[in-house]
Amino acid sequence: MITELFINSCILIAFISISQNFVMKKDINKNSSIALKILTGTYAGLLGILLMLFSIRVTPSIITDFRALPILLSAIYGGFLPTIIASLIMGAFRILYFGISNASLIALIVILLMGSGFSTINLVKSEMKGKWIYSITYSLLVNTIAMPILIKDSMLLFKVFTVYCVSTLLMSYFIFKFTEYLSESVQSYRRLKSEATIDFLTGLNNVRQFDNMFNIVAQQTIRNGEELSLLFLDIDYFKKINDTFGHSSGDMILKDLAVILSNTCRVYDVISRNGGEEFSVLLANCPAAHALEVAERIRKNVEGNKFYISNKVNINITVSLGISTYPNITSNIDNLLEHADTALYEAKKTGRNKVVLYNSKDQLTNVN
Ligand code: GH3
Ligand code: MG
Ligand code: MG
Repeated sequence: MITELFINSCILIAFISISQNFVMKKDINKNSSIALKILTGTYAGLLGILLMLFSIRVTPSIITDFRALPILLSAIYGGFLPTIIASLIMGAFRILYFGISNASLIALIVILLMGSGFSTINLVKSEMKGKWIYSITYSLLVNTIAMPILIKDSMLLFKVFTVYCVSTLLMSYFIFKFTEYLSESVQSYRRLKSEATIDFLTGLNNVRQFDNMFNIVAQQTIRNGEELSLLFLDIDYFKKINDTFGHSSGDMILKDLAVILSNTCRVYDVISRNGGEEFSVLLANCPAAHALEVAERIRKNVEGNKFYISNKVNINITVSLGISTYPNITSNIDNLLEHADTALYEAKKTGRNKVVLYNSKDQLTNVN
């Protein structure tokens, strides 16, 4: 009996661990798509089948196992639809595989009662611990009523019931803790993944993601024989703004500037905060003339915008922009960053609030 219980536990843990990989990217919850819910229900149903195949045979027709737990997990994470699907798959298998008998009919009723009961409990209870405690109590209650109908020998009934209760309680507690731990790992994985690519303040790409995207877009540009333009943008006299209005006001300006950049550029342009008050826009398949238009539009939109640093106080800021373009001006794509930086430096040196295009003959074209 202990061996079979151990095998049942191992199957359950293995299936739950494998499912963790599926939920890394996509959450399974009550708002998931119907397709994902059907998939979850089927997965839980198959797990239930496997648990039944390796179950503990009490008498030739009576088996016991942890099949309640996949139904409960479906109810907790997926809601009504996957729970009912899982219950129906398990119920159908119990009848078809083990044959029609009193035991399998009662087992079918118990499975369906679990599915509907767990779904209802999970609708009513919102706290995770509560969901588990009420559901496990309900499952033990259902089995307390079902088992004496099937097992007439009181000694055997006592033995089976004790083993069932103790193992279910222990396993439920373990799976509760295990799924809690897995949820936390998934959350941490997602947070770290997002922090590795997204700038926390503005929600734009961070400098690491800018590098990744630059490499991807550069390869694509060379492969397709396209043009690629790069804008570097830096806020003028930002230190003074911080010193005058405070660092948090400076942060508000950085966030608003990110919104202006997102609204001014195309959805597939790669907008990044490369550090401090320095931003960049990578314009794929974009010649110099168009990049100049985009840069000029950004400059004007920033100049004309009121940046609110409190309910009543708003200020105006300006930005300087440097542009480099491949292949007509910068023939080596690897020099694009350096050339955009040189153009930006030139914009700063020659008065700020302007756009400068890097020129191939080491001349820099002032646009305004
Ligand atoms: P310039 O016109 O030459 O660009 O002058 P500047 O004052 O903007 O240039 P500088 O590079 O000297 O100053 C940049 C300032 O940006 C200094 C720093 O305090 C501020 N800064 C950098 N990161 C942040 C940030 O995350 N939040 C805030 N509020 N300020 C930042
Ligand atoms: Mg700077
Ligand atoms: Mg600056």
